[in-house]
Parts: sequence; structure tokens; C-alpha cells
Amino acid sequence: MPGKDFYKVLGVPKSASQDDVKRAFRKLAHEHHPDKGGKEEKFKEINEAYQALGDEQKRKQYDQFGSAAFDGSGGGNPFGGGNPFGGGGFDFSGAGFEDLGDILGGMFGGGGRQTREQKGQDLEIGIRLTFTEAVFGVEKEIPLTKHSKCSRCAGTAAEPGTKMKTCTTCDGKGFRVTMQRTMLGAMQMKTACTECHGRGEKPEKDCTECHGKGAVHGRSTVRVDIPAGVDDGMSIRVRGEGESIGAQGEPGDLYLRLRVETDPRFKRDGFTIYVTKNIGFTQAALGDTVDVDTVDGKVEVKIPQGTQSGDELRLRGKGVPSNRGRGDQIIIVKVVTPTKIDKKIRELLQEMNLREA
Ligand SMILES: [Zn+2]
Ligand SMILES: [Zn+2]
Repeated sequence: MPGKDFYKVLGVPKSASQDDVKRAFRKLAHEHHPDKGGKEEKFKEINEAYQALGDEQKRKQYDQFGSAAFDGSGGGNPFGGGNPFGGGGFDFSGAGFEDLGDILGGMFGGGGRQTREQKGQDLEIGIRLTFTEAVFGVEKEIPLTKHSKCSRCAGTAAEPGTKMKTCTTCDGKGFRVTMQRTMLGAMQMKTACTECHGRGEKPEKDCTECHGKGAVHGRSTVRVDIPAGVDDGMSIRVRGEGESIGAQGEPGDLYLRLRVETDPRFKRDGFTIYVTKNIGFTQAALGDTVDVDTVDGKVEVKIPQGTQSGDELRLRGKGVPSNRGRGDQIIIVKVVTPTKIDKKIRELLQEMNLREA
């Protein structure tokens, strides 16, 4: 899908500071607030952009993967079906919420809210990756213990071969209306009927496998393609792999928190990989060809004559992949002064008498 340019939406350059981003968002949000006659679509777009750029970590992720990384991730949409007070408020727990709070003011105050959309709980787990797995991406099989859709009844909760009947508790409406006091004042709430879980109908006979729940708790495995170029601290959303509530609604999502192990050979800064290469005194002075570790294996690198300790050599395209191609590897050359000085070396060095001052 074509990526959205969140920077353009907020009207800030890519180099904008977090403060600039925040300021731009506040200004635009006030300008386009639907209560002041702004277009809801535009307001949503501004909000979506700020959800991505307002948080340093998410901004990094956006810079690397584009808006695809945020595809449908709730987008911080205060108008849609998502309930900002309920579970799964992942995006709302981010930087956007406190800022939105004062801008939206009493928006959630009056009026009847819609019935909460039935959705399973989101899950979050930590995943360890090696340095090279993070660079090149990897397919992982992740063991989980969670509720999955019952295979016997396909989540319908009804014993196969039996019918559904109208729920008598809610007369088939699927919800009941209550008044609830909240921090924002009294709110009329439609809550799902607990007897039929909001469906308005119940199985004639409960499924014998899931006992009428539509989902069973147990071990399962999720296969996930971790994309190339991810970094420590990033979070990946796997749609629909959270807790299942059977056919009563959508399953929750699974969030993978990435921990990337260090590698003694490599250091990483964004898309650039750094290695330190030790060379000898003679190699530095006269030049040489040496083997250097890269994430693609060893490569031969020419050390130029007269190389100084601390000089940097660049290997193009040996860094971390991104949507703009691969980054570079920087070799930091370290000239090692000999410490084992035998009689012959001593004589040679004294004869050369290399002095700077
Ligand atoms: Zn079942
Ligand atoms: Zn009911």
C-alpha cells in the first residue's frame, strides 16, 4: 500500500524536534477540531500522524518502515468503534493520549456510546533476536498459551448439529442499557448481554469441547515473519493472534516486544554497522589487504598505505537493510603498537628512529 507521509500531514521537516512535532500537532488539532467545524477526516489524519511521530520510538519505526508499520493499528481514532477506556488501548497509552485529553475536552462526556465492539484481549510477549536476525529478518515460531477459536464448533459455541435460539435474558437484543458514572460525568452505556455475549442468541446445546465459550485455552504456535532491519526496543503487531472469543467477535492482537542481543563483532547505529579492526604497525605504514567481518561474512579490505589509528573505511551496502536500500558498514581501524619487543625488533625500531616530536 502507498505510504502516508506523516511529516507532510503535520507540516514539519523530517529533522523536526519532538517539541516541534508536538507544537505542530497542537496547532493543527485546534484548527481542524470537528467541534470547531473542522473535517473529521482531516482531524483523524492529523491524529494518526501524531500517534506515529509524537513518540520517539514509534517515530524511529516510522522512519524505517513507513506508515505500513502503523497500518490499522487503531491509529488513535477517537471517533470510531474503538473504546479508548477499554482494553486494547495500546495506541492511546502512547504519547498522544494526554495531549488529546485536553483537546478533545468533553467529547466523551455526553450522549450514548455505542455498544462496545466485541474483541478478544491483546497479548504482549518479549522476543529475543540475535544481531543478524534483526538485520536480515527471520521467521520465528512463537509458542503461546492463549484462548484459540474452538475447532469443534468453529467458535459458534453450539454443539455441531444443534441450532441457536433467541436469548431470553435480553429478548434477542444482545445488550442492556445502563447509566454509568465516569470521571467525565454520567454516560449512557450499552453493555453486552452476559448471557448471550451480545449475540442475542444462544446455542440450544453448548459445544462439549469449549462448554459454550467458543474458544479453548491451550498451547498454540504462531509463525511470524520478523522483517529485516528491526531494532532493539521495537514492537511488532501481529493481527488477530491475541486472545480469541470464538465467533462472538474479532480476536485480539499479539504484540512482540523485540530484544536484540549484542554481537561482540558489531555495533549498530540505525542502519550503519560499525566494526573495529586491529592492524599492526607495518600494515598501517605500508598498507595491506585484511579480512574484515561483515554481517554477510568475511570480506577482503584494502588498508591504504599510511593509515592512522582511528581512520574509518566505508563498506557501501554492508549495513542494515531499510526501505531505501542497505546502509553502510564503517570499519574503524586501530593500529596496535607491538608490546612483545625482542632484541631484533628493538634494534630495527631504534635504527628507524620514527619520531613525531
Ligand atoms: Zn466449541
Ligand atoms: Zn442475551
